[in-house]
Amino acid sequence: MHIPQRILLGPGPSDVPARVLSALAAPTLGHLDPAYLKIMDHTRQMLREVFRTKNELTMAISGTGSAGMEACVANLIEPGDEMIVCVNGVFGGRMRDVAQRCGATVHSVEVEWGQSVDPQKVADALKQHPKTKVVGVVHAETSTGALSNVEEISKVVHAAGALILVDAVTSLGGMDLRIDDWKIDACYSGTQKCLSCPPGLSPVTISADAVKKMDQRKTKCQSWYLDFSMLRQYWGEDRVYHHTAPVNMTYGLHAALAIVLEEGLDNRIARHVKNHQALRAGLEAIGLKFVPKNSLTTLNLVSVPDGANDAQIRKALLERFGIEIGAGLGPFKGKAWRIGLMGYASSQRNVLMILAALETLLGKSGALAPAEKVYASK
Ligand SMILES: *Cc1c(COP(=O)(O)O)cnc(C)c1O
Repeated sequence: MHIPQRILLGPGPSDVPARVLSALAAPTLGHLDPAYLKIMDHTRQMLREVFRTKNELTMAISGTGSAGMEACVANLIEPGDEMIVCVNGVFGGRMRDVAQRCGATVHSVEVEWGQSVDPQKVADALKQHPKTKVVGVVHAETSTGALSNVEEISKVVHAAGALILVDAVTSLGGMDLRIDDWKIDACYSGTQKCLSCPPGLSPVTISADAVKKMDQRKTKCQSWYLDFSMLRQYWGEDRVYHHTAPVNMTYGLHAALAIVLEEGLDNRIARHVKNHQALRAGLEAIGLKFVPKNSLTTLNLVSVPDGANDAQIRKALLERFGIEIGAGLGPFKGKAWRIGLMGYASSQRNVLMILAALETLLGKSGALAPAEKVYASK
């Protein structure tokens, strides 16, 4: 097995720092060993800090971000429940699919790809469907680069007496996200994006109100593996065996969260802003354009310039420079690149490297100086 060393600047996974990789290599403990339970508890506490919440029910689901999505929907929804899902890209579409499979009657708030979800549209949908139990929305749509104002959407949802479910896979640990201040009832993320841990766990947090709703279910959660009522008993004080925890992944997440908290959430968010601005300055200097509504700092949607071959450039980036970036999806297929600057990978070094590589491959020059000017400014 030969594993090349890459620079992961795509939509995920993102680069993992050595400290997290070495944590993964520590000796495997039994999943009920007191030493492991201590690591779990500490991981849980750090997750609360990173989510900015006091929610008791905060844990890491075994599986990638999609498992967190499925877990939240499956536990919140009973067959026949009404759910509104905001769809402004791939992941909103996926949440709708999951909700339908869980037996929900789903009403979609359709938003043009690339646009943010307008809270007014959510309010209108809630007026039309007053029995809605849950509204699902993607905070940072990785397929389009659009950030939605989940704080405002949350107000609208609560005014209608529903619960709000937020996908924070590409925002947790990279962009401002406040579970308690914004009154978000259920939120899931992934380890492999801005937390800079390999793919494999999905942090989730659930409000007391949402837990109460789950406790009032008439039917069992249709997923045995993802049933919060059982997972809670393992993550809580009872420590009831449900499934064997991915022990070493927990070590990795523990190390990744410690790194986030040592840097400080605000510093980390500011770092993502700065690197995004430098990338933008450099790309724009050589004539590349961001997709107009790009509002994420963790993921940059950049139009493929006229005359450039999308696939060839991505291939050359990978083969010659060891840099991975992402292709466009849906209406952006072949038209845009997705350049991730997530977590550990959001660095001055990586910004200058991708700029140098792109200007070389596109036969341009002059991208680096404007980026370095951004770093030189306060
Ligand atoms: C990546 C991503 C997911 C899915 O996460 P996986 O780790 O690939 O399962 C869900 N939502 C968003 C917004 C994402 O970016």
